[in-house]
Amino acid sequence: MNFFQPTTLPQLAQCLAEQAGPGCHLIAGCTDFLPQRNGTPWDARALISLVNLAELGQIRQENGLVSLGATCTHTQVEGHPLVRQYFPALAQACGSVGSTQIRNRGTVGGNVGNASPAGDLYPVLLVLGARGVVLSGNQAVRRLPMEQLVLPQGALALEPDEAIIAFELPVPSPGNLNAFVKLGERTHVTIAKISLSASLTLHEGRMEQVRLALGAVARRAFLSSSSSALEGKSLSKALLPELFDALSREVAASIPDRPSMPYKRQAVRGLADDLLSALLHQARDVSQQP
Ligand SMILES: Cc1cc2nc3c(=O)[nH]c(=O)nc-3n(C[C@H](O)[C@H](O)[C@H](O)COP(=O)(O)OP(=O)(O)OC[C@H]3O[C@@H](n4cnc5c(N)ncnc54)[C@H](O)[C@@H]3O)c2cc1C
Repeated sequence: MNFFQPTTLPQLAQCLAEQAGPGCHLIAGCTDFLPQRNGTPWDARALISLVNLAELGQIRQENGLVSLGATCTHTQVEGHPLVRQYFPALAQACGSVGSTQIRNRGTVGGNVGNASPAGDLYPVLLVLGARGVVLSGNQAVRRLPMEQLVLPQGALALEPDEAIIAFELPVPSPGNLNAFVKLGERTHVTIAKISLSASLTLHEGRMEQVRLALGAVARRAFLSSSSSALEGKSLSKALLPELFDALSREVAASIPDRPSMPYKRQAVRGLADDLLSALLHQARDVSQQP
């Protein structure tokens, strides 16, 4: 087996061009890659590690976008001032991934790259309108909205010689609120059984540009059709029965034959309650800012 550690994007492109194909794998923190190979025959002909590419470990703001490098760890993202200022949902999601050790090694690119239905970051990036920046072996760069980056069956829509190098998120408009909540078997170190993410803009007390996403329900997290029902309404706990009904119907319709459907259909009530609390909390903080 050969092991590659490119340090520049041209070197990464060259590795992709020369090595891509069966048995070649990209790796970052390996917190998904290695556990998935426990007890199975080693299948790697070539490993391309992304962690020595300094450029992929950066978070910066330019031209109305915040760019998150693919190898930024959950710890790094959770604590970054730009993320805390604009994207509390992302800070909440990264802060709830696994344990401290997992958050110190696991990366945003690896989380999306693994394309797990229960991955916490995809639904958040979806509601925030992010797109993935993808490098190919011929050094071309293309940008894909999240819905196109991950296919409905829960696999990456990348060619074998492509890698995600960053995610670009539009800087939210004033009055934007965003939040992420999840439910698992435990309160900590828990994989989501169901998650709910939201982004919306409060304008004169009314909700606009509402985007809700349900995670860990179908093969891929999806934007909820309940979003439009909230448009133009005031943000308050009085919305809970209506939101719960709409989300519950949607969960039931999207996984009618799954044994977990009756549980998830009920569990979404608690999540909707937690989500409204998180958004109301943020709304109070925003209104108290000088
Ligand atoms: C104990 C434990 C708890 C966990 N808890 C959670 C949790 O609560 N929530 C959650 O969402 N996840 C959880 N995970 C899963 C995992 O930690 C995260 O998904 C993590 O972000 C993966 O990142 P990584 O860098 O370790 O990926 P790796 O394991 O290095 O890679 C994962 C996959 O993505 C591909 N990949 C990596 N980088 C790229 C890239 N830049 N472009 C394209 N493909 C790429 C790899 O080829 C591989 O298929 C947990 C894992 C463990 C072991």
